[in-house]
Amino acid sequence: MRNPTLPTDLGLQVELPTIMPRSKTRPSVHYTAAQRAIEEDPEIPYLTEQELVERIQQLRKERNAVILAHNYQIPIIQDLADFVGDSLQLAQQAAKTDADVIVFCGVHFMAETAAILNPERTVLIPDPEAGCSLAATVTAEEVRQWKANHPNGVVVAYVNTNADVKAEADYCCTSSNAVQVVQAIPEDKEILFLPDMFLGLYVQRMTGRKIHLWMGECHVHAGFRAEEIGDALRRYPEADLLLHPECGCVSQCMFALAAGDLPPERTYVYGTGGMVRHVRQSPAPIHLIATEVGMLHRLRKEAPNKQFIPVKADAICEYMKTITLPKLYRSLRDMVYEVRVEEPILSRARHAIERMLEIT
Ligand code: SF4
Repeated sequence: MRNPTLPTDLGLQVELPTIMPRSKTRPSVHYTAAQRAIEEDPEIPYLTEQELVERIQQLRKERNAVILAHNYQIPIIQDLADFVGDSLQLAQQAAKTDADVIVFCGVHFMAETAAILNPERTVLIPDPEAGCSLAATVTAEEVRQWKANHPNGVVVAYVNTNADVKAEADYCCTSSNAVQVVQAIPEDKEILFLPDMFLGLYVQRMTGRKIHLWMGECHVHAGFRAEEIGDALRRYPEADLLLHPECGCVSQCMFALAAGDLPPERTYVYGTGGMVRHVRQSPAPIHLIATEVGMLHRLRKEAPNKQFIPVKADAICEYMKTITLPKLYRSLRDMVYEVRVEEPILSRARHAIERMLEIT
């Protein structure tokens, strides 16, 4: 069967996989078991927010626990965390912590990454049903089939994948280092990039390498449209635009930039860590943010004198928002839910993550 290609008007030579993973069901978060446990708990529903915070502070000391939170977490979780960051920064923090317990406030694949890097520590996630629509677009078996069709291929797996998918990869990458990782791969190798096609297109554009793309997407970032970006830039002519490379419009924006339809001196493509670095040093008084809205809390704390405006105010990841204060408290109190990755997946996935960390 001939592989499908992206529309030729994008001017790209992109072969897409014959297996189209988009038929996967997105994980549900409507009413999780952890939420039910909170509602049935004899103590938690009667605690005020202040009491929950005090108990969390007490328990984190008693258990020698570190709380890691992704940039998309709700504000109170970010404020309580020992460290807030993007996927790469959290993986690096997890790799060097000496805490006995890591409580990971993020989605499940991120907690798995922490567990892979710290098999001797206890890694907890307050709600194990915090999934990811992007990670759900590819399985380990599908990667094995894809590799069989490309025996010379080097698999680069975005960190937004489950542990058994990482175990099939040669390298992991995050949005902040995907370009570097692909540049480190010898020119004579085919590259199989998964699962985010928008990030893969961006990397292809930046490196000039021909990349086979998995056709996955994050439902939050795929919702961004180039028209919304253009409108926002026109409304705020003094603003910088910070665009996440997972966004559905990123390739259109790259072409619009090349065509002079977007102002190159005001348009930046960054992962969430890059956004933080940018706002610290940019003189622009206003920043338009094209990513999940949890990022705005982090940026406002980093640069309180600047204004941050979401390009899409309803860009909300419901999986990230499943982590709440009561669940964080219960996680520390009852030591739930432990995330473990067993051999041989652990060693193979760890190898792919460590190869990424060596490059960046
Ligand atoms: S924002 Fe998208 S990629 Fe990130 S955790 Fe949510 S669904 Fe996954």
